Amino acid sequence: MSQLIYTQGIRHKGEQKKLKSRIIGGMWLIGILILTIIGLLVVNYYLTERVQSSESKLDEALEQYKEVIENYDIILQKYEEVKMEQEMNSQNFEQEKANLLQEQERLLKEIESLKEELQAKGDTKGQVKSTGKVAYLTFDDGPSENTKKILDTLKEHEVPATFFVTGAGLQQEDTKALYQRILDEGHQLGNHTYSHQYSYIYASKENFIKDFNRLEKEVFDLTNGKMVMVRFPGGSNTQQYRKYNKNGVNVMAEIKGELTQKGYVYVDWNVDSQDARTKELKSKKAIIEAVVQGASKQKTAVILMHDAPAKTTTAEALPEIIRQLKEKGYEFKALTPNSEIVQF
Ligand SMILES: [Zn+2]
Repeated sequence: MSQLIYTQGIRHKGEQKKLKSRIIGGMWLIGILILTIIGLLVVNYYLTERVQSSESKLDEALEQYKEVIENYDIILQKYEEVKMEQEMNSQNFEQEKANLLQEQERLLKEIESLKEELQAKGDTKGQVKSTGKVAYLTFDDGPSENTKKILDTLKEHEVPATFFVTGAGLQQEDTKALYQRILDEGHQLGNHTYSHQYSYIYASKENFIKDFNRLEKEVFDLTNGKMVMVRFPGGSNTQQYRKYNKNGVNVMAEIKGELTQKGYVYVDWNVDSQDARTKELKSKKAIIEAVVQGASKQKTAVILMHDAPAKTTTAEALPEIIRQLKEKGYEFKALTPNSEIVQF
């Protein structure tokens, strides 16, 4: 009996052990399950976060893409506008070119018919055929005492000339009378500005026009003659304004535009007597040579000379200049808006 109880006790103990290890095993399983669930929850949370942030990034990218598309549209529109403008400009240019060509053709025809007319006249009068060579004597910076001598020479040789005057001659009674005498003797008066002072006239268009108008008015009051011809002090290509205009304005272009628009005609020269090239007085001989040699290269010679008070040798050289140019077949004329205009 006691043996049985003992055996039963042993069996009972064995079962208890088994039960215990099962319980422990179960607890482990539960623990692992819980950990797995927690792990899955963590992973799920993390993934959700990731998806959300990439969604917002996607939204941002979409927004940017939209912006780029919009900008592209604007650029495209601008490009179309510029293209249209360019096309219009080139059309205008073509039109202008065609007009100019037409005008050129018309003028050439006119020249041709005038030539024929001239020829016919010459033939009927039995005159010597013209060489077609023309000399325009021009005198700048006067009138002065020298102008008297020059006018006497021109009268003696029956030669017309052009005087680009300043206001300097208006200051004295005897030179003041010369503006009228120039016109009376069949010469041309041209505007060379009142003051001839570069620092003032080339500082701005306004200064130039004021100075220019002042001379025009005073000469008109004196002679009743309007000066249409113009010569710029220093020539039409002078760069003096660069020195005197501090704002970088192309003063020269503005002046030329205004004068041309108002019907004035500015003239430069293609023969330089060189009587104002240096401070020392040029010799009479040097002036004659410069003019005659310079003119020999030009069919239409616009000759630059000066009749300022100091230029005595220019007046002395004039008779010989006229004699030699006549010998070479030049006809002398005064400048008018219809002359063959020389501009730089
Ligand atoms: Zn001058």
